Amino acid sequence: MRPFRALVVAEVRDKRYTGSIVERDIEDLPAGDVLIRVRYSSLNYKDALSAAGNRGVTRHYPHTPGIDAAGTIEESADPAWRPGDPVLVTGYDLGMNTSGGFGQYIRVPAGWVVPLPAGLSLKESMIFGTAGFTAGMSVSSLVASVRPEDGEILVTGASGGVGSIAVAILARLGYSVIAVSGKPESHDFLTDLGASGIIGREEAAETSARPLLNGRWAGVVDTVGGALLSTAIRSTRPFGTVTCCGNVASPDLPMTVFPFILRGVRLQGIDSQNCPMPERLQVWERLAGIWKLTQLGSLHREIGLSGISDNVALILQGRQQGRVLINLDLE
Ligand code: NDP
Repeated sequence: MRPFRALVVAEVRDKRYTGSIVERDIEDLPAGDVLIRVRYSSLNYKDALSAAGNRGVTRHYPHTPGIDAAGTIEESADPAWRPGDPVLVTGYDLGMNTSGGFGQYIRVPAGWVVPLPAGLSLKESMIFGTAGFTAGMSVSSLVASVRPEDGEILVTGASGGVGSIAVAILARLGYSVIAVSGKPESHDFLTDLGASGIIGREEAAETSARPLLNGRWAGVVDTVGGALLSTAIRSTRPFGTVTCCGNVASPDLPMTVFPFILRGVRLQGIDSQNCPMPERLQVWERLAGIWKLTQLGSLHREIGLSGISDNVALILQGRQQGRVLINLDLE
């Protein structure tokens, strides 16, 4: 037996799921080209769903969640990777139906593996993790069509993982960022990240059926969907860009086509899970280089495997601020 520590989520009874820290065997990991010794992972919204027993994310339990992992190659059947190489994996099927980063080892296809970009440590790469990568994809899409002088950028779900990193990168690039947040206690956090204004969720959601609202935003990074996304699109200036990655508020989008056909507004979907490798490498290179944040320290809290359950509850209640880094060598 080659033992390692991992969180395993199992159904205990009647659709009730609990997570326990157990000893697993490397030989029980799925087949794959590379075995990675995981040093850090992170907690994302999708991990919380998987850890809570959401069968839309994870079909089979017992299961080790964790859509993110950073560590070193231990064994590789692919000559592209050598033992000791520092690497990261985010998305694809990791942590969904493939044993994930909440364990000290993962075994995955070589095509999922990204070399640790120069300029980031393993720890820093997982402070970003999928949330930071998704923020990076969203910002890439915005900067391709909107300049800082075009006007303000709205970021929804701003105190969460994706939102907080999007606020910080955009502010760093010289954009004027207005944050939407339901947490009054996060205002100082958002201001420190560079938000130039903060508005509450109620104020940011216009639930009338008006097809167009006053055009204020040059661009939008939306992480929540529903009425907030609909309001943001209807309030976007002609030829502005809106990115859409999440649905914590709602998967619905109550609106008409008029912002698209009368104002030329662009709506860009973001899929970090299946992002093609060339774009994936480019976003990581930016996160490690020209977009590298000076606030990575204040953006995260570090926990061990035993801290995951409490933080899963926080994220599912919409109460998480910033990022949660998981150190696989801590209790
Ligand atoms: P977090 O839980 O860290 O952040 C979400 C934030 O949204 C919360 O902190 C809160 O911020 C706000 N929020 C929570 N509940 C509501 C609500 N009912 N109405 C409006 N706002 C709410 O999650 P992540 O940042 O990790 O992920 C955000 C979304 O993006 C999720 O839906 C996730 O699944 C999705 N996602 C999608 C990816 C993709 O590739 N498409 C990749 C990564 C994430 P505040 O209090 O400041 O308003």
